[in-house]
Amino acid sequence: MTKCDVAIIGAGPYGLSATAHLRTVKGLDVHTFGEPMSFWERNMPTGMLLRSGWAASHIADPNQSLTLDAYRAGSGNHFSSPVPLDRFVDYGHWYRSQAVPNIDQRKIARVEPAADGFRLILEVGETVTVGRLVVAAGISSFAWRPPEFADLPSSLASHTSEHREFAKFAGKQVLVIGSGQSALESAALLHESGAEVEIVVRAPRIRWLGGLVSNVIHNGLGLTIAKLLYAPTDVGPAGISQVVARPDLVRRFPRPIQNWLRSRSIRPAGARWLVERLKNVPMSLGRSTARAAEVGGRVEVQLDDGSVRCVDHVLLRRV
Ligand SMILES: Cc1cc2nc3c(=O)[nH]c(=O)nc-3n(C[C@H](O)[C@H](O)[C@H](O)COP(=O)(O)OP(=O)(O)OC[C@H]3O[C@@H](n4cnc5c(N)ncnc54)[C@H](O)[C@@H]3O)c2cc1C
Repeated sequence: MTKCDVAIIGAGPYGLSATAHLRTVKGLDVHTFGEPMSFWERNMPTGMLLRSGWAASHIADPNQSLTLDAYRAGSGNHFSSPVPLDRFVDYGHWYRSQAVPNIDQRKIARVEPAADGFRLILEVGETVTVGRLVVAAGISSFAWRPPEFADLPSSLASHTSEHREFAKFAGKQVLVIGSGQSALESAALLHESGAEVEIVVRAPRIRWLGGLVSNVIHNGLGLTIAKLLYAPTDVGPAGISQVVARPDLVRRFPRPIQNWLRSRSIRPAGARWLVERLKNVPMSLGRSTARAAEVGGRVEVQLDDGSVRCVDHVLLRRV
């Protein structure tokens, strides 16, 4: 193949969904690149539970027939919310087999503008010309390493997404930085794997999702009011959830309002079911890391209050 109407880079949930929708357009030649569900299979820890709730975790399809409920009924797997990672990965593969049978697993090395579209240069050297391009390549290349950890090898300081298993940290001292879901859930899994864990959080408190107010609105006020205040995507607080679920509307707001909506909706937070699992894990709140250095095969980390931790490993949040 050297030409197609639309190419989609990405075979995770968004790439699969975009492909399923575009395939309904008669006569459109759609080609999808990527390894199906690869990020979820390789970059999330075994035993993880999805933070997104049931209604927000369906992979959208044009007929609304490839839902988590349809997968659960067909597969005979019994699970509910929070959705276990292995069930979600299996759901993604089931969705692909139903809606996106042909996926080109070759990697795109470069994208260049062309006369009437784009030129995709594949890693194997082949070139494909496309009229339109959808990029759903995920977040894996946005991992951020704070400057104080820049010189440390990944054997001493790594990102949460670099680990599938935490058993190797049993008996080790691990400092986890951050208060988002991936940091907090990794801390819980590390603790349960026998590591001695401490969490360092810049904010003065940890924001737990699904508190009393949210529960009353979601479950106690009746479905109609809950639906008015929260979009099915369930991202962001009451009311704002409905706004941020409409990207075409958000784009019309002045930039400062857009920024405010984003920061209210995607600030670091953890699922409430982690509270119990983290009750024996010490947390240093309102503290940030000032300096880190390798000392005798371990990491010495100085916090901004001058206190020092000497640990076997530092786990950094993803982005
Ligand atoms: C620990 C953790 C927990 C999370 N929990 C949740 C959750 O509970 N709920 C939720 O909704 N989100 C969650 N997320 C966020 C979620 O992972 C991402 O938002 C989601 O994976 C994005 O999906 P995607 O389809 O855009 O990309 P991905 O699932 O990351 O897929 C990217 C695809 O792009 C392909 N690709 C990339 N580069 C190329 C290339 N150069 N050439 C060809 N193909 C390429 C890959 O092969 C892959 O198929 C979590 C993230 C992390 C790290």
